[in-house]
Amino acid sequence: MAEISPQAMEIAVGAPVDPDKVKELDALTATLNTQYDEMPSLELLDAMINNVFKGKIALVSSFGTEAALLLSLVSQVNKNTPVIFLDTLKHFPETLEYRDDLIKKLGLTDVRNIEPEPSALKAADPDGDLWSRNPDACCYLRKVVPLEEALSGFDAWINGRKRIHGGSRSKLDTIEHDDRRVKVNAIADWTQEMIDEEWQKQGLPEHPMVQWGYTSVGCKPCTSLPKPGEGKRSGRWAQFDKQECGIHSLDGTWEDTSGGI
Ligand code: SF4
Repeated sequence: MAEISPQAMEIAVGAPVDPDKVKELDALTATLNTQYDEMPSLELLDAMINNVFKGKIALVSSFGTEAALLLSLVSQVNKNTPVIFLDTLKHFPETLEYRDDLIKKLGLTDVRNIEPEPSALKAADPDGDLWSRNPDACCYLRKVVPLEEALSGFDAWINGRKRIHGGSRSKLDTIEHDDRRVKVNAIADWTQEMIDEEWQKQGLPEHPMVQWGYTSVGCKPCTSLPKPGEGKRSGRWAQFDKQECGIHSLDGTWEDTSGGI
């Protein structure tokens, strides 16, 4: 576990985990996996958004290099689905332009730009360089805490992790939980061929930085070109021993067990 700055420690992530809630979510996700695990992604999203969690589910999107696929699928079943974008204030301008272009192209009506609290930034990262000393604390401040607040009131969230990303993602269940709410990994089983085919079919635009060789794009200080012969995410936090941002372990620790968006 990485060192945590005293200021960042003062930022609380929601209430402590409730063991009864965890048991309830264990049972619910087991039932949902039995019912929906084999369902094609579009039908699964339709069921989750328009029926099972109607009005209580959001999509969390990075608007990164692969994000358009899931955004497109969600827009096909309900354009009014809340979409949460974590604006860390450290993104490339190209990502922000791409976000705006995709919103327009897909007709999404409820994209929420979530920024870190100014008072939290002032206390924990007044010079904006926390990422260089403690990237885990920076992700916590700019992603984990804002996401938990943005998801307050939702019973479930959708994300775009896939088994083909490898590592801990290779065994992703379609539906899981984070001890607080359900997580729908709606395209967990998609292969690269399926992604490419759907991308073409829907005429989805590429993130502008793909043309320069970027295969995964996050915040500017923590994104570089992928290393030759290594995975798509090898350019993320390349200067650190860090692979994930921590939003999939919302228990307030830095233990990343299941990957980022
Ligand atoms: S990816 Fe880098 S800049 Fe962005 S929140 Fe994490 S440590 Fe900070």
